[in-house]
Amino acid sequence: MERIQKYIARCGIASRRKAEELIFNGKVKVNGEIINDIVLINPDNDIVEVEGKIISPEESKIYIMLNKPVGYVTTAKDEKGRKTVLDLINVRERVYPVGRLDYDTSGLLILTNDGDFAYKMTHPSKEIDKVYIALVEGIPTEEEIERFKKGLKIEDYITAPADFKLIEKRGKNAIVRITIHEGKNRQVRRMCEKIGHKVLELKRIQIGKIKLGNLKVGEWRFLKQEEIDFIN
Ligand code: URA
Repeated sequence: MERIQKYIARCGIASRRKAEELIFNGKVKVNGEIINDIVLINPDNDIVEVEGKIISPEESKIYIMLNKPVGYVTTAKDEKGRKTVLDLINVRERVYPVGRLDYDTSGLLILTNDGDFAYKMTHPSKEIDKVYIALVEGIPTEEEIERFKKGLKIEDYITAPADFKLIEKRGKNAIVRITIHEGKNRQVRRMCEKIGHKVLELKRIQIGKIKLGNLKVGEWRFLKQEEIDFIN
């Protein structure tokens, strides 16, 4: 329970003292009834109106990067009861992932409660590059790499030009660096499969100017202002 004038102040409408004035002047309703005195309210259930407008607390916008481990889903709940990335983040605000990573993909995942930011980050017209490091089966040839870069037909869709660099050989397999700006379901895995090189491990290391850096697997941090601003 919370004192009504404190709640009004927390919603950014007025100072506590000014809120008291509003109450005594009959400008405040709780659940549709004018109140003329200080009351206690339940902020989760009671509806408070000030001068005819329903008010709600200003939630500060937060921006987080997580180094997602393999074995976590990026949805809030999973029908199979698998662990979710939200279990790894202990903040009061209700955040959600910007875009997604597969259960078996690790690396950079951004979470926020800022819908505007999430919209801009994922909108196809922004063409924000996403960079991945993959361990792929076999060693891709020059010709296969060129096909990947030009665009591949995946079901009824042709992928946009992308980047693909062979970094090093690992026995019979290869470590590669892939950059795409699209975000179709399992796109990197499907593109690699299309050129005959199944992805064995996949990690995202960068989105636009935001880099995972040396954040440890399973750990998170708040984004810096310049990381948030790059999208604007
Ligand atoms: N592409 C994929 O195939 N999987 C991911 O998790 C991200 C991009």
